[in-house]
Amino acid sequence: MKHLIILLSTVLSLFTACAQNTEKEESSQQYKVEKSEEEWKDQLTDIEYDVLRNEGTEPAFSGKYVEWKKSGTFTCKACGNALFESDTKFKSGTGWPSFYDYIEGNVLEKPDNSYGWNRTEVECAKCGSHLGHVFEDGPKPTGLRYCINSVSLGFKAKK
Ligand code: FE
Repeated sequence: MKHLIILLSTVLSLFTACAQNTEKEESSQQYKVEKSEEEWKDQLTDIEYDVLRNEGTEPAFSGKYVEWKKSGTFTCKACGNALFESDTKFKSGTGWPSFYDYIEGNVLEKPDNSYGWNRTEVECAKCGSHLGHVFEDGPKPTGLRYCINSVSLGFKAKK
């Protein structure tokens, strides 16, 4: 009986140790670029912080890149990661810059069930900042519409 109790408590403590390890691994499974909330607040304007770090949305037709037609690459305003090429930008009429595709490997998609909608959130793969959402009513060739906040973006003109 005594042995059984010792065995049980050993097994139990092993389980606890495993559980703690998993938790640690999950919290350290992070992005290449990571900053504290204070650092993000220092770096970003209020609306940039609200959208990029707090999943806010800029008002429709308010953004710098809605009618933008220059050739180049749209980057993450928070970390500079290259996100969208200008030749995938199209006129959606929604009031937000819209793209039918992203630069492979640089954008992540995540389910977003906030406000009772089933949407797919789009974020920067390098820093985890919120960019916008993706919808399935875009043009060819992908049929997707990446609806992105202008304040989440920077722009690098093609040389
Ligand atoms: Fe980023």
